[in-house]
Amino acid sequence: TLSDRLADTFKNLRGKGRLSEADIDATAREIRIALLEADVALPVVKEFVGAVKERARSEEVSGALNPAQQIIKIVHDELVTILGGETRRLRYAKSGPTVIMLAGLQGAGKTTLAAKLALWLKDQDKTPLLVAADLQRPNAVQQLQVNGERVGVPVFAPEPGNGTGNPVDVARASIEEARRRLHDVVIIDTAGRLGVDETLMQQAADIRDAVQPDEVLFVVDAMIGQDAVTTAQAFLDGVGYDGVVLTKLDGDARGGAALSIRSITGKPVMFASSGEKMTDFDLFHPDRMASRILDMGDMLTLIEQAEKAFDSEQAMRAAEKLGTKGGFTLEDFLQQMMQIRKLGSMTKIMGMLPGMGQFRDQLENFDEREIDRIQAIIQSMTPAERENPKIIDGSRRARIAKGSGRQVSDVNQLVDRFFEARKMMEQMARGGGVPGMPGMPG
Ligand code: GDP
Ligand code: MG
Repeated sequence: TLSDRLADTFKNLRGKGRLSEADIDATAREIRIALLEADVALPVVKEFVGAVKERARSEEVSGALNPAQQIIKIVHDELVTILGGETRRLRYAKSGPTVIMLAGLQGAGKTTLAAKLALWLKDQDKTPLLVAADLQRPNAVQQLQVNGERVGVPVFAPEPGNGTGNPVDVARASIEEARRRLHDVVIIDTAGRLGVDETLMQQAADIRDAVQPDEVLFVVDAMIGQDAVTTAQAFLDGVGYDGVVLTKLDGDARGGAALSIRSITGKPVMFASSGEKMTDFDLFHPDRMASRILDMGDMLTLIEQAEKAFDSEQAMRAAEKLGTKGGFTLEDFLQQMMQIRKLGSMTKIMGMLPGMGQFRDQLENFDEREIDRIQAIIQSMTPAERENPKIIDGSRRARIAKGSGRQVSDVNQLVDRFFEARKMMEQMARGGGVPGMPGMPG
């Protein structure tokens, strides 16, 4: 799988100081193979890998990330970019009912999706009307009626036996019905075939011409792999659409279809459908899909944390304060403790973090409860006390101990440790070297 291949590649990269041209090439090769295996279309793979290489070359080596993390971040960011950045919202009609038409192959999940979308709209105080314009498949009308009942949304369908066998007429009539009954959204379910064919396309195009939808949504099964691109292109040429809905994301498809369709058709993926339940439906989130394609959610979270922990601005501010006698406050002390906690748990999991080698032993013996205690004590202090710890006399210590549920000796110990750390930092600042993580407990 893609995630295995990337993980293997990054294992080789781990431990190197910076990205060399050879590293970048080796990684690019692996990403290329992996994406092809994940059923991403070849032209899309080429474009994607090109973009990743470009960025890997131009990006300065980050202080917060090691090379493996850095490449994962670039790959992730590029995926999000290609998948469309921000999610596009539905466009509602300025007047009259908003008409949404669904198109796609048989079995793509249109009828199921129609009801899910109706429920989602209903939850936003819309009053949708479902329209059964699939008169091809036996029971298609009934299936929509059952789904409509499940979500409590009325279904407009041809009266049995009155001869309305024409989906175009049904669709047209449904708009009139929606106006009469004041439905503000109309969702038209259409027929699909097992493969792309002329009759299917023509019928969908006829319905489109008859009702002039505000949104045509192309519904596609995420599991069909490379075929998704061919189908997406055929429907784009034959019917045209404004957005894409990916279904069956509860399956184990890695999401290659999302990447291919988005970059080849240029149409945004708008919704994601992920199960048989009517609530298994959501707006499409490019960042989540990128994580899914990479299958590295945990890794990405850690990268985010590492970047936060190494927030350069904060480091600069701290360094500035170090130079000033007494500039370093208990508030800063607490902030640093919190950063160390993040690093401590990460180090245990990942065994990485460049430049942290000197602190590794301390981090490994690190007791997270200690931070909780420090935090409780500092938070029981007034802002003035945190800013200027010299004023913390005996009676203040007693009050702080009481407020934080600790002993006075704990408060004494913390204040002593703080002054020690501050002295050490001021010495080091004078000596020119800025310590990375002063005031380490334990
Ligand atoms: P249509 O032919 O395009 O109208 O597709 P249907 O809505 O009838 O769906 C075809 C089959 O796929 C049905 O058995 C649905 O229950 C199932 N299905 C639809 N959406 C999903 C989904 O998101 N996840 C799963 N697991 N099954 C789905
Ligand atoms: Mg159907």
